[in-house]
Amino acid sequence: MTEQAAPTACFVLCGYMASEAANKFYSSQEWKDCRTAYRKSVGGLCERCLKKGLYNPGEIVHHKVYINADNVNDPKILTDFNNLELLCRKCHGEEHDRVKKRYKIDAFGHVLI
Ligand SMILES: [Zn+2]
Ligand SMILES: [Zn+2]
Repeated sequence: MTEQAAPTACFVLCGYMASEAANKFYSSQEWKDCRTAYRKSVGGLCERCLKKGLYNPGEIVHHKVYINADNVNDPKILTDFNNLELLCRKCHGEEHDRVKKRYKIDAFGHVLI
């Protein structure tokens, strides 16, 4: 199993990864600024762990509504804080395990159709 190079964005598994539009967004300065600002706004801890009284640093900014072909240009989905969640790796993995059970995903995180 290889480590992901940049775990600070919910890059690989939040939905619509294989598309050029999604790649463009995830590598944009806008998204980098947005996720930094969001992380600061919630205090830097995993939001799900915090609800259970655990203090774990958040590592990944996850999109609650996954990015897809219909919403990839919608700022309400992409950068609205209401759609973001700061998670540790474990919580993020658990979130996406639900998805993995429904779809086959290759080593690069692309959904196999
Ligand atoms: Zn967590
Ligand atoms: Zn995610």
